[in-house]
Amino acid sequence: MRTLRYSLVCSECDAAYQPNEVVYRCKKCDGLLTIRYEEEISKSRILSFWKKRPLSVWRYVELLPINNPDKIVSLGEGGTSLNKCARLAGDVGLKEVYVKNEGENPTGSFKDRGMTVGVTKALELGIKRVACASTGNTSASLAAYAAKAGLECIVLIPSGKVAFGKLVQAIIYGARVIQVRGNFDEALKIVEGLCLTHPIYLLNSINPYRLEGQKTIAFEIWDQLDHKVPDKVIVPVGNAGNISAIWKGFKELYSIGLADKLPEMIGVQAEGAAPIANLVKKGLKEIEFVDSPETVATAIRIGSPVNWKKAAKAIKESGGTAETVSDDEILKAQRLLAQREGIFTEPAGAASIAGLIKLREIDLIDRDELTVCISTGHGLKDPEIVLKQFPKPIEIEADIKALMKILSTTD
Ligand SMILES: *Cc1c(COP(=O)(O)O)cnc(C)c1O
Ligand SMILES: [Zn+2]
Repeated sequence: MRTLRYSLVCSECDAAYQPNEVVYRCKKCDGLLTIRYEEEISKSRILSFWKKRPLSVWRYVELLPINNPDKIVSLGEGGTSLNKCARLAGDVGLKEVYVKNEGENPTGSFKDRGMTVGVTKALELGIKRVACASTGNTSASLAAYAAKAGLECIVLIPSGKVAFGKLVQAIIYGARVIQVRGNFDEALKIVEGLCLTHPIYLLNSINPYRLEGQKTIAFEIWDQLDHKVPDKVIVPVGNAGNISAIWKGFKELYSIGLADKLPEMIGVQAEGAAPIANLVKKGLKEIEFVDSPETVATAIRIGSPVNWKKAAKAIKESGGTAETVSDDEILKAQRLLAQREGIFTEPAGAASIAGLIKLREIDLIDRDELTVCISTGHGLKDPEIVLKQFPKPIEIEADIKALMKILSTTD
């Protein structure tokens, strides 16, 4: 078992870089970098390797850019369930809807798929300190993987705008947590500056190794659908790394000949933080960043998504689209998914469900189209938003008569 030969190239001008060079943006054009596999592997050989391993990020190690598979930093990421949601499908009038529950990852979001690869890479590069800016889940995930690897971890978060559970995670895993008076975009700018001038490894989604881990969402969906590719994949979009990564995953399956088609990629953003959805829907030439992004879905409260070019390309190439949803629609979708399907997702994760509902209403998804929604993070990360919406549970004396009386009323 070994990884295919790979190179590090600019996603815009194709300039090549050494895989052991610490570089995040192209020195010629400032474009973001991507990993390209330079070796061919036959469909049957790769399948015979994959068949022997459990569903997980590392099932697909041949297509992950690491040098020594014996030295990976893992907490058991990936292998999340793909739930067939018959009741949700009935509600929206579709034949088949699946929800990929990324909340099942070790720290409760898909970020773990990226961090297992990114932190493994940090060790390979001999780096001692890692850092990120985060709306919450990136910091929770990086803090955990850094702890496992014995690395020092620095995280910058927008002051007061991170869900409670995520903040608690970063703290307990021992990260150095720094609150920035500003939004995520501003925090990312300063942490990128820090990492460019110090031997600190940046693990935001501009890091191409992280996205390689995240592309395994596509591999797992294909595996869980018995080697079928869905017609539509709906993804909540913030900094836009994940939708780009999932698209890359499907394209790799296709180019090896493991998949016979590609899905349409649909990005969903919150109305108050929707530069990519606006770009796609209005057909703008240049993106218009949002200076003060606002939404209850704090994980996608991002106004200047660094991966916007990759994401716009993924949506266009795939023949997909993008949509915006309001905070009300997000919270309604969050309740619906919990109460109809037993899946508790955080608000950002519910954006894909809200998007599904909206796209059905405007008939952009056909009844027969096999659709997969990504639920990106666990609902327990943000309990406050739920408590705000529901009345306090009723209280009674410890007496069966009192209980019977309550139960005989209608609500
Ligand atoms: C990070 C995150 C997103 C956004 O992913 P991007 O790659 O930044 O687009 C969406 N939902 C949750 C729960 C996240 O943690
Ligand atoms: Zn370039």
